[in-house]
Amino acid sequence: MFSFTKNSIPQYYYLYVLTCFCITLIIHRNFHHAIILTTAAFLEVKMSAHNHGNLGSKLFYSILLNLGISIAEIVGGIISGSLALISDSFHNFADTSSLIISYGAEKVSRKQRNKKYTYGFKRVEILATLINTTALLAIAIFLFREAILKFLNPSVIDGNLMISIALIGLTGNIVTVFLLFKDSKKSLHIKSSFVHIAGDSLSSVFVIVGGLLIKFYEWWIVDPILTMIVVTYISIQSIKMLKEVIEIIMQAAPKGITVDEVKEAIDKLNFVNDTHHIHLWTTNGKDIYVECHVIIDNCETDNIDNYLDAIKSKLSEIGINHSTIQIERQCNSE
Ligand SMILES: [Zn+2]
Ligand SMILES: [Zn+2]
Repeated sequence: MFSFTKNSIPQYYYLYVLTCFCITLIIHRNFHHAIILTTAAFLEVKMSAHNHGNLGSKLFYSILLNLGISIAEIVGGIISGSLALISDSFHNFADTSSLIISYGAEKVSRKQRNKKYTYGFKRVEILATLINTTALLAIAIFLFREAILKFLNPSVIDGNLMISIALIGLTGNIVTVFLLFKDSKKSLHIKSSFVHIAGDSLSSVFVIVGGLLIKFYEWWIVDPILTMIVVTYISIQSIKMLKEVIEIIMQAAPKGITVDEVKEAIDKLNFVNDTHHIHLWTTNGKDIYVECHVIIDNCETDNIDNYLDAIKSKLSEIGINHSTIQIERQCNSE
């Protein structure tokens, strides 16, 4: 038996269930069909409220919602024969797993570093994103091939089903956008998910328009064309993401800061003669690390702590809080 309190369900969910009901009722003009689909959506809400109501995480609800949409789209895609719907579903699946990565990364990266993993577990998210993105790219290539085959040999598609599923997908995307909107200002992960899903609503709109063309004009060819558009969109997003992840794994200098800026900042200190051997990298796209050699203009002093402190505070001014500095003393022969 399910038990839940009203407060444990975000109000957007009721809106979602209601919209699902209206959509199916209007399009299918079949009350039973509408009741069945809406009950399924409502049960999903009830179960999530039951199991995780106390968690209260909007990110969690977004994950559940997206997972529901993906499953609905893939089933609907197979039944209606629409490849565009299936490709949109894979997109949503990938989005769901990247939401899960954001959700999991927050938990895992809090795990303390130990003697073996001396940097901690911040790169778990990077690794997971690499796997997720590579898988999505492989699926995109497969779907593109299918689209070409269907373009050459179009098949009959159930336009009604295509439209209603895509409408449910669009509504789900909009609800997710609302769920994440407030938190998107707090966390970078959530912000990127938010921006992404907001952009995705567009691909659902494409599928709806395609469904209308198929329903009224029987332009079956629209489906493979739409698939190619959706797949191209997926590929562009994946390649962008892959590039960022590879840069981090290759220890590239993080965005927004250059080796020259680091050198300039340290060289400005009046006791510094030169800075060299500078390495600049990030573990997860947020924490920036620097390693460098600094030649100081004093070969007498035994107390280098003051010099180090000055260099470190200079570095923290430009946003670097993890540094390894090797001091080298230069003695003028005069
Ligand atoms: Zn997406
Ligand atoms: Zn050196």
